[in-house]
Amino acid sequence: KSFEEARLPDEVVECCKNFDKPSPIQSHSWPFLLDGRDFIGIAATGSGKTLAFGIPAMMHVLSKRKNKTSKKVNPLCLVLSPTRELAQQIADVLCDAGKPSGVRSVCVYGGTSKGPQISSLKSGVDIVIGTPGRLKDLIEMGVCILKEVSFVVLDEADRMLDMGFEPEVRSILGQTSSVRQMVMFSATWPLPVHQLAQEFMDPHPVKV
Ligand code: AMP
Repeated sequence: KSFEEARLPDEVVECCKNFDKPSPIQSHSWPFLLDGRDFIGIAATGSGKTLAFGIPAMMHVLSKRKNKTSKKVNPLCLVLSPTRELAQQIADVLCDAGKPSGVRSVCVYGGTSKGPQISSLKSGVDIVIGTPGRLKDLIEMGVCILKEVSFVVLDEADRMLDMGFEPEVRSILGQTSSVRQMVMFSATWPLPVHQLAQEFMDPHPVKV
């Protein structure tokens, strides 16, 4: 499979210009994610999973923003990550990837001051990437409004639940739009992860 076959706009695949071809998880996820399906990926870090969900997330933003001129916006996509390192890593990739198309991402995580995160959220962002604890704080403060989020990614879902974030994850998911596309990546598939998927995803997600 090639990038041409994925039929993505140039400004969206610009971030892949140094790669020969889509990685297996990318070529297996893009067709389903671009078609609006819920998706479960059992994939490890290093597989190229950030762009496996990142490119469809950018496409989601661009399709929702089409014909809209308003600049002040609530986020349309949310990526939940168990650790700040992973959140920052994802944000670095998506901030860069979003430049040619003007898709804006912000990263929010604990252990650092809220001020700059609040300012970025207020200036309007398309994609929020964050850890569950800080995100829940910002939602409760009213500075992070998720009601228009219609594309949600749970990255390393098994690790997120292992770390005890299940209550936060559930409460955050409950704030997003009821009409939403859900993507879950997990290295393993234990019962609590399975149950979360059953509760929050379409009954027949694609599993790869
Ligand atoms: P990830 O699993 O998203 O953390 O990606 C791991 C590494 O693979 C990163 O350094 C990416 O830049 C790189 N990568 C992502 N997609 C591709 C691709 N299609 N071909 C080669 N490398 C890639």
